[in-house]
Amino acid sequence: METQAPPASFTVIPNRHPASEEERWLAMENPVFGKVFTDHMARATWRDGEGWVDRRIVALAPLPLHPGAAVLHYAQQGFEGLKAYRHEDGSIWLFRPEANAARLAATCRRMALPEVSEEDFLGALEGIVSADRNWVPGTPGASLYLRPFIIATEPSLLVQPANEADFLVTASPVGAYLSTAGDGVSIWVSRGFHRANPGGTGEAKTAGNYAASMLPQREAKEHGCQQVLFLDAREDTYVEELGGMNLIAVRADGSVVTPRLGGTILPGITRDSILMLLRDEGRTVEERDIALAEILEGLESGEIVELFACGTAAVVTPIARLVSDDFDVAVPPREGESVADAVLTRLTDLQYGRAEDPHGWMRKV
Ligand code: PMP
Repeated sequence: METQAPPASFTVIPNRHPASEEERWLAMENPVFGKVFTDHMARATWRDGEGWVDRRIVALAPLPLHPGAAVLHYAQQGFEGLKAYRHEDGSIWLFRPEANAARLAATCRRMALPEVSEEDFLGALEGIVSADRNWVPGTPGASLYLRPFIIATEPSLLVQPANEADFLVTASPVGAYLSTAGDGVSIWVSRGFHRANPGGTGEAKTAGNYAASMLPQREAKEHGCQQVLFLDAREDTYVEELGGMNLIAVRADGSVVTPRLGGTILPGITRDSILMLLRDEGRTVEERDIALAEILEGLESGEIVELFACGTAAVVTPIARLVSDDFDVAVPPREGESVADAVLTRLTDLQYGRAEDPHGWMRKV
């Protein structure tokens, strides 16, 4: 059970020109992921010597930012992503927000930014979700995606930790993330481009990791693939993770194997939750180094029967094909219910309040 900290209080200054009901319904009808924003944003400001001040919920608006703001030059930044779910009785719930708070705090430490406390993190989330309650979709599979982020705002071109920062949260109604053509997505295995190095920022959720993944992502698209799978930078041998999701493989004996967290992989909260649910079922779960060759050979021999990706945005996405310059391997479709399908149902039933929550993961707003 995770701790239930009292959230900090954010002063609400309501948007005087919110979207009309009609505009809201139109915007929520079939939103492109992350392109539609609600009426408000949460914001707090960090000042050297004072700490976090001015906790507020205000109208969503462009940020006045000095052109010398450190974030614009040196990407001193951290962010999170989580969702608010509407249950059938109309109530609204967050999924493991304390875990996102802990991960953002770890990112802040790595990026030499002031830490956002769990109280402030939860206070900002509850503030914006309460202000924009009518933006939380009630349609199946849809939710309100929350994007907390912290940026170094100090105008300074010196390469040193900034003394001024802002913490913000925006909210976006979203539907499904990746378009799964048929049985799953095609994945491009990146050779030559790596996402993270030992001692680098791979396990932090910070902008630069994603900036570096844009070019390989484009390469993936050019090869007809939706996502990139990165290999380790040291030996170019072991699978690590996708651009925005963790990777899980299922073996013929029902056991599950996933790359271990070693500092270069983002510790996904969906990954952690799925591993816990699979262990609850009594499955063997291994977290260890996995060579790409082990996966390719396993798919050929039938030792590996399923591959799927997981993350907040796409939840669980089956992988149908692994492609690179020198191979194009199909994951054979499963007969009967796959582990990916079963775990997707378990997780989403819990998130949407259709099933028990044995781990106390849901937090009511
Ligand atoms: N890996 C990367 C690189 C990601 O950006 C994400 C999305 N946050 C994940 C994995 C999955 O993490 P989570 O389950 O916490 O969304």
